[in-house]
Amino acid sequence: MTTTSPVSRPFVEGHAVEPGSGVVTVLREPATGEPLGQVLLADETCVDSAVLAARRALDGPWRRTSPVTRSRLLHRLADELESRHDALSLLEARNVGKAITSVRAEVSHAVNTFRYFAAATAAIEGKSSRPNGALAFQSFREPVGVVAQIVPWNYPLLMAAWKVAPALAAGCTVVLKPDPATPLTALRLAELALVAGIPPGVLNVVPADGPHVGSHLVRHAGVDRVAFTGSTVTGGEIMRLAADPVKRVSLELGGKSPTVVFADADLDDAVAGAVWGAFTCAGQSCEARSRVLVEDEVFDRFLERFLDRSRILRVGDPLDPDTVVGSLISTAHRERVHGFVERGRAAGAQVLLGGEVPQGAGAFYPLTVVLAPRDAEIVRDEVFGPVVTVQPFRDEDEAVSLANDTKYGLFATLWTRDPGRAQRIAAGVTAGTVGINHPYTTFPGVPFGGFKQSGFGREFALETLSEYLESKSVLTWTSRRPANPFR
Ligand code: NAD
Repeated sequence: MTTTSPVSRPFVEGHAVEPGSGVVTVLREPATGEPLGQVLLADETCVDSAVLAARRALDGPWRRTSPVTRSRLLHRLADELESRHDALSLLEARNVGKAITSVRAEVSHAVNTFRYFAAATAAIEGKSSRPNGALAFQSFREPVGVVAQIVPWNYPLLMAAWKVAPALAAGCTVVLKPDPATPLTALRLAELALVAGIPPGVLNVVPADGPHVGSHLVRHAGVDRVAFTGSTVTGGEIMRLAADPVKRVSLELGGKSPTVVFADADLDDAVAGAVWGAFTCAGQSCEARSRVLVEDEVFDRFLERFLDRSRILRVGDPLDPDTVVGSLISTAHRERVHGFVERGRAAGAQVLLGGEVPQGAGAFYPLTVVLAPRDAEIVRDEVFGPVVTVQPFRDEDEAVSLANDTKYGLFATLWTRDPGRAQRIAAGVTAGTVGINHPYTTFPGVPFGGFKQSGFGREFALETLSEYLESKSVLTWTSRRPANPFR
C-alpha cells in the first residue's frame, strides 16, 4: 500500500465522514495494477447515520421543495458534472479500466440523465374528480421517502445517475451504495450535489461491501424503498431482505441478450452492430449482446466478416483515445470469465477467436468468439466479459425459440430489411427492449429494464419517476348536509 495515494471516505450529511470500522480498501487501476487510491469503507453505524441524515433531510425542507426548485437544482448538478467532464471521465476510466471514449460517452449520458429528470419534474401532477354529488376527490403525488440505492461496478457514475436523478426529482432522499471497487465518481457526485445547492443529507454515498453492510442498508427500518442494479443472484437476495419489513423494490439484473441476423439484412451493418453489441465495454454490460444468432443461409459469410472485424478492434490502454476495448475490472473477474471459456472448451465448444489469458500487466482479456451448442453453459449463463457465442438458425420460429431460450429478458437486436418480419420477431421475443437495425440501447425517455430474471422496474423514463412517488387520495365532504351515516 502506498501512503501517498488519496483516501476517500463515505459522504454523509454534506461531508466526508470517518467510519468507525477503519476498514480500508486499496483501489488499483485494472489496466496497470498501479494503486489509484484508498477508500475507507462504511460500516453499519455509518449506514445508520446516513439513513438518519436522509430522514432528517426528507423531514426538513426537501419534502416541501417544489418540482420547479428540484428541476433547477438537478440542472445545476448537470452543469457541475458537465464542467468536469474530462476529469470525471479520466477518473472513471482509470478506476474501471474501460476505454476512455466509452467512458466519455457515459459521463455525457449521466449529465443527460440529470437534465431529463430535471425536465420530468413537470410531469408530477395530481388528479381530481367528483365521485358523487357530495364528495370532491384529489390525488396528490408524494415522494416515497428515504431510498436505498445499490449499484454495480460496470458503469459507476451512469448507474448512480440513473438511480439518483429520478429519486431526487420525485422529492425522495437517498443513501447510495456504490460497489467498494468503484466508488470514486459516486463520491464526486455527492460532493457536486452539495456544490449545486442540494441540501446536505439529500444524497449520501456509502461505499461498502455488499453481503454485510449492503444487507444492513436493505433491511434498515428507516429505508422506504430499495432500488438495485446488479446480478440476478444478488437481486433475489435483495428481495428476500426487503420483504421484512415490507419495502418497495425495483431490480435491474443480468442479461444474455441476442443479436439476431436474418439473411435479408445488410450484412456489413449487421456485422458492425453485432461486434459493437458484444464487445463494447469489454462485454461487461447487462445488455451485452453476447449471443449472435444467424440465419443458416448467411452463417458462414457473416461469421467470416464478424471474426475479421473482431480481430482488428483495438484492445489496450484505456486512456488511449484509439482504444476500443480496455481491460476487465480485475484479474479475479478475468479468472471467472476465462473459467467459462475453459469449461466451454472441455464440453466441446469451438473457440474461434481469443480465449487465452494474455501475459503482462493488467486485467486484459482478448475478444473471444465461441461456437457452442444451445445447451452449453457459455450459451446460457451471463459471462460478463468479451465472450460471444454464435449459433445458426433455420427460420423465424427457430430464431425466436433460440432468442428466448434463456432465463433473462433484457434486450434483443434484430437485423432484417423486412419490416413485417422485424415486427413479428419483436412481438415474439421476451425482452424489455428490442432494437431493429441498430445496436444502441439507452435513450432518455425510453424505458429500460427487463423481462423474466432480468428484473422489474424501468429506468430512464417517465415511469421511473412514478417508482419514487406514492399516490395519496384525499376525499372532501362538500355537501351542506352533514356527513353522518349513523343518523
Ligand atoms: P453484484 O450483484 O455482485 O453487486 C452489485 C451491487 O450489490 C454491489 O454494489 C454489491 O456490493 C452489492 N451487493 C452484493 N451483495 C449484496 C447484498 N447481499 N446486499 C446488498 N448489496 C449487495 O453485481 P456485480 O457483479 O457488481 O455487477 C454485475 C451485474 O450487474 C451483472 O449481472 C449485470 O448484468 C448487472 N447489471 C444490470 C444492469 C441493468 O440495468 N439491468 C446494469 C448494470 C449491471
